[in-house]
Amino acid sequence: MISHNTWTNNNAPLNLHDNILQQGVMVVDDSSMHRFSAHSCLSAFGISHLYEAADGKMALDQLAQLQPIPAVMLLDLEMPVMDGIEVLQQLAQLSCKPAVVLVSSSDEVLISAVATMAEALGIQLLGAFRKPVSQAELVDALNSYHVDVACPDQIHAPVVTDVEQLKIALDRAKIQVHYQPKIDLESMRIAGVEALARWKNPQGDWIPPSVFIPLAEEQDLIGALTLSVLDQVLQDMNSWWEKERYIPVAINLSAKSLAEFNLANEIIQRVIRKGIPAHFITFEITESALVVDLPSALATISRLRLRGFGVSIDDFGTGFSSLQQLSRFPFSELKIDRAFIRSAPARQYIRNILRSAIEMGQGLGITTVAEGVETEAELHLLKSLGCKQAQGFLLARPMPERELMSWVEQDLQRNHTICQTRLG
Ligand code: C2E
Ligand code: MG
Ligand code: MG
Repeated sequence: MISHNTWTNNNAPLNLHDNILQQGVMVVDDSSMHRFSAHSCLSAFGISHLYEAADGKMALDQLAQLQPIPAVMLLDLEMPVMDGIEVLQQLAQLSCKPAVVLVSSSDEVLISAVATMAEALGIQLLGAFRKPVSQAELVDALNSYHVDVACPDQIHAPVVTDVEQLKIALDRAKIQVHYQPKIDLESMRIAGVEALARWKNPQGDWIPPSVFIPLAEEQDLIGALTLSVLDQVLQDMNSWWEKERYIPVAINLSAKSLAEFNLANEIIQRVIRKGIPAHFITFEITESALVVDLPSALATISRLRLRGFGVSIDDFGTGFSSLQQLSRFPFSELKIDRAFIRSAPARQYIRNILRSAIEMGQGLGITTVAEGVETEAELHLLKSLGCKQAQGFLLARPMPERELMSWVEQDLQRNHTICQTRLG
């Protein structure tokens, strides 16, 4: 039942996007009581363009008449004539559509399933809540509104990729390594970096790893690629050591590499030759890689751990049996996939899963790292849940080695200032 209590009171900072103020919000709910309380709450936020509809069909009819359309739709799921699920399906067909906040009395598992559906349909989902919704939750949802832009990273889709070019690139060391900082959430200082491969082909296009890593795996070039990345990392680490910048590095290992009998030996030898202590290097392995060839994966990972390297389970939560992988392999780090980070602030159900993953990492005594942190709300939540480290565009993007060094110096300056301020 919806009541005036649908919106519970709470003070939270409001930072509304201009589109919301100028285009307004539409409340779609069959309960007049709920529409009234939502209306009062939104008016109190300073939103004056408010529209109401008592069912999905009325909402879509109104949308067709409005120019511009409201920036956000608060959508109930259970409604007569046309329910919220159908509204979402219809919205997906529109070229210009509002962002959506789902508000429903259904159980959390159902709300979460519909939220996943909305995102899969390409709808900007600001939140999915079970009634009653707190004002703070609504504020967080509205604050997360953004104008959709194309790709946030600087990498563009490749024009062509061919294996001959990839072979040449490997021979000529044209696969470069960029570094993305990982931040310690307690001190907010750099905790390490992840090495990410980058390839600029002869046409000058940046080819993303999602294209050339599978190609390298297919063509048996992945071992060579891994070692080329390792060599660059070791060389960079050496130069950081000379400047007394002891930055730990994470390197990605692909499924196929794990099955290569000699890879662990080769890695160990190269690291020893460069004189870098093994515990400064962590290998990130995606969960899906672990099921390809279990005995080989276990052998490679165990040998690396035996020598003191860190081993991280990457994209945690996306594999078939995350818990089984955790129980089988001697991981030192758990890297939680971006899908959970992105959805957690607005979705209680996902937030519970995220909390459990962090608690599990704590229970196992291994470092928890959140991937793909893009918003302050995500960062705030991760800190409150006790996650150890975070990585993402909000904190720093992947960058070439030279930029990383300036970033690290700035980071030191920033934190030095913070310390001085605290002492003063
Ligand atoms: P990954 O290991 O999970 O790396 C994180 C990916 O997320 C990187 O994409 C990074 O640029 C991106 N990322 C970081 N912060 C954010 C954020 O806030 N939002 C979003 N949306 N994305 C963020 P990238 O560099 O394109 O790499 C994709 C994947 O390719 C990596 O995923 C990794 O599995 C693989 N890869 C990259 N370099 C190597 C390599 O040297 N060897 C192997 N085997 N795989 C690699
Ligand atoms: Mg990784
Ligand atoms: Mg990952």
